[in-house]
Amino acid sequence: MTPEEFRQAGYAVVDWIADYWSTLGQRPVTSQDPPGAVAAALPAGPPAHGEPVEAVLADLDTLVTPRLTHWQHPGFFGYFPANTSGPSVLGDLVSAGLGVQGMLWATGPACTELETVLLDWLADLLGLPARMRSSATGGGVIQDSASSATLVATLVAVHRASGGRWREAGVDRRYRAYTSTQGHSSIEKAARIGGLGAEGVRLVDVDPDTQAMSPAALRTAVEADLAAGVVPAIVVATVGTTSTTAVDPLPEIGAICAEYGIFLHVDAAYAGAAAVCPELRAGHAGLEYADSYCFDPHKWLLTGFDCDAFWVADRGELIEALTVLPEYLRNAATESGAVIDYRDWQVPLGRRFRALKLWFVLRWYGVEGLRAHIRSGVALAAGFADRVRADDRFELVAPHPYALVCFRLRGDDATNEALLERVNASGRVLLTHTRVRGRHTLRLAVGSPQTTQAHVDEAWELLSHAADELTAGR
Ligand SMILES: *Cc1c(COP(=O)(O)O)cnc(C)c1O
Repeated sequence: MTPEEFRQAGYAVVDWIADYWSTLGQRPVTSQDPPGAVAAALPAGPPAHGEPVEAVLADLDTLVTPRLTHWQHPGFFGYFPANTSGPSVLGDLVSAGLGVQGMLWATGPACTELETVLLDWLADLLGLPARMRSSATGGGVIQDSASSATLVATLVAVHRASGGRWREAGVDRRYRAYTSTQGHSSIEKAARIGGLGAEGVRLVDVDPDTQAMSPAALRTAVEADLAAGVVPAIVVATVGTTSTTAVDPLPEIGAICAEYGIFLHVDAAYAGAAAVCPELRAGHAGLEYADSYCFDPHKWLLTGFDCDAFWVADRGELIEALTVLPEYLRNAATESGAVIDYRDWQVPLGRRFRALKLWFVLRWYGVEGLRAHIRSGVALAAGFADRVRADDRFELVAPHPYALVCFRLRGDDATNEALLERVNASGRVLLTHTRVRGRHTLRLAVGSPQTTQAHVDEAWELLSHAADELTAGR
């Protein structure tokens, strides 16, 4: 493909994406086809001779888009949002076009330095502790996901807890990670990969009303482990749990970590984005105790997957834990100690120029534009919660500090399962569910950039109508 051919095909692809976005609201949110429909429609192998891009675009329309879950759909209220946006796509396109591999400072100086500066900007924007800045002892890096951030934090924590011995001899003792019963599954995965073993994670009890970690239960667990000769290595506290957006009390948890020298990682994968608004930073109280922190701009901050922002308070400890320097990567800049080599801040060696999409997003929206996006989601969710609260048929199941509302019909689990199935079968909305205090609970997460009051109203009408039908026994 010559640059001129690329220009023509590229215009067609951009047009195709713009058309997709402008017609999204008219599509069903999810596919109704059975498993295997896409695979069965594809040919047995690739074409012998090249085809024009238009042929691929035609197949996207007939084969792919009808069989997707449309995450950018204005009626998408499932899971957590996974935003993308025009500037994010364009920044990613530039990254793809440059094809830079930024493993070392020397393999793309701007790739590294732009990322460092943007993560400092973001740290300011979120009001993170001063020591997480690159100008202090810490610094930020883009990981592919919050799961990777938690893995890296776990490896650094084991490095610290073992006095560095794990690098030479592997995990030589029993080390333990702690999170609440509501902690994300990636914490257990990180513990498995980090060699902590199947019993490596202790799930600490939560307050039944708030679903937030109980500091007293954490202390009891830590002290019991110490008495049994197990080394407490890391506490992963969550700001905005996946199930209900519960906020673990960082001041109390941080004080326990400080007392016992335990590494504290704060997982704010979804809710961290809200901290761009000063009035939504309450969950960050106590963050000065944290050794590391992460959130996903790819969830609620208009930046397409993959983009997790991860900061540490002490980059020296991180680099010491992860660095391996083979001869073929040696270079003068690295030897000088004056540069950041991000390969030492992550599990893989190679890395894309992901800072570009973040840069495009920050510059296109500006701070106030990002705040407006977050505030709109929070306000729409609050309005929805008001309608639930005002309707005797329904109940709110947990606090809603961000833009997720957890609610249920007063009644049994089967009725709530049927309710969810009915509203999703409309094709107009997608809600998902969780279990809170053992009971089936519906989740409505606002956050898609196209969602407006009308879409939330429609979701409520669908729920209210289905509730009528179900309670009338139809
Ligand atoms: C979504 C989520 C994760 C995982 O995010 P990825 O970036 O997909 O790995 C981790 N923790 C919490 C609290 C989450 O909500």
